[in-house]
Amino acid sequence: MKRELVLSPPYRRFPALLQAAGDWLQRRQDIVRRVQWGFVLLYYFFLFVPAILPQPASRADLFHSLAGWSEILFWGLWWPGVIISMLLFGQFWCGVFCPDGALTELVSRHGRGGKIPAWVRWPGWPLAAYALVVVYEHLANAYQTPRALVVSLGGASLLALVCGYFLGRGKRVWCRYLCPISSMFSLLARCSMLHFKVDREAWDNAPKPLPRSIDCPPLLDVRRLRSNEKCSMCGRCSGHRDAVVLAARWPGKEIVDLSACEIRAADAFGIYFVLIGLCFSAMYWDAFEQIGPIPVAELAPASRILLLAISLGAATAIALAVAAGMRRRAAFHLAYALIPIAGLGLFAGALEHSFQLLQEAGYAIADTRRLVKFACMTAGASWSILIARRIVANWNEAESPRLALCVFAALTITLGATYFVAGNRLMVG
Ligand code: SF4
Repeated sequence: MKRELVLSPPYRRFPALLQAAGDWLQRRQDIVRRVQWGFVLLYYFFLFVPAILPQPASRADLFHSLAGWSEILFWGLWWPGVIISMLLFGQFWCGVFCPDGALTELVSRHGRGGKIPAWVRWPGWPLAAYALVVVYEHLANAYQTPRALVVSLGGASLLALVCGYFLGRGKRVWCRYLCPISSMFSLLARCSMLHFKVDREAWDNAPKPLPRSIDCPPLLDVRRLRSNEKCSMCGRCSGHRDAVVLAARWPGKEIVDLSACEIRAADAFGIYFVLIGLCFSAMYWDAFEQIGPIPVAELAPASRILLLAISLGAATAIALAVAAGMRRRAAFHLAYALIPIAGLGLFAGALEHSFQLLQEAGYAIADTRRLVKFACMTAGASWSILIARRIVANWNEAESPRLALCVFAALTITLGATYFVAGNRLMVG
């Protein structure tokens, strides 16, 4: 009998392809390591070498100097690319490419292997350090000053090495507890559409003999893994006990499914005051100053940035408290739903630098710039509102879910419009 060739549609094959990709990462850690060493060379070359060479005399020399190419790679490509990849796919940058992560793990294999002290585990370090780094980079104009960039990024690399030398045995204690940028990445990755999914039943019923335990660099309890928050997507656990697979999910599912004990005030404050407040004010302060005389203009620049960050964060917190009928836990849960609009606002702000570089290279891109920003803000607002809609769908009528969603939508659209208008003012400025 003649057999018909039946091809399954691509979306049916997608889970198997993802699983194969995860398993490949697990099997080919030798290639991952080579990629990491390639990034180590590239990253530190463009970080340190431009800082010791003579600086370009003007912006016109940008494309003819190593400092210029360092700016293009770090701020024109790397920073926007890494933000959007976190938001959509999770922290692959950290697990597969990050030079600081690779170095801290290597040093940790040959270091003192010390125990992790309790103070290192304080969850506020990454956010506090990130706030410091953002303010410093803005004030020192590290985006265009290679030596200032060495202080911020090079300083972080040095601390990662010191941490690796003293703490953990072949692990990434730095990435798990201290890395400043991980504070943002941990929030953004909660929305991503990929994750390593663990089937707890398959794990517990795995046939004997059991495989060796997983070498998870950020020391996660993989059996209980439910969140992308700290997972660096290195893939080393893929296929373990036939229970772990790289899988797709609805982007935002992790946030909707947060249980009461997983909703943290610290995360909500990070979203209000750092992801929204500080990131916005550092990126767009210049645009704000063009609006007109601002009564705080005589304050020191750092104080102005912090004041705007606190005001914006507080306004967001109050709006969410109103939306949640002054129920603290419910307001904090809604705060996570703001990650897409804030993340895409951060991405759009990072893209400003890429656009500026293109403009300096002679491209007329004003309309494209506006269009891309508008698309980012529309996508971010819709995504946030969809997540909030699913969160309030679990509320009962007495908790006024419809009113909450209206207030949340108004807040999200206002935030999106603020990012968009501030970005346009930067263009004019
Ligand atoms: S759980 Fe650990 S081992 Fe598995 S992908 Fe995440 S970081 Fe890697």
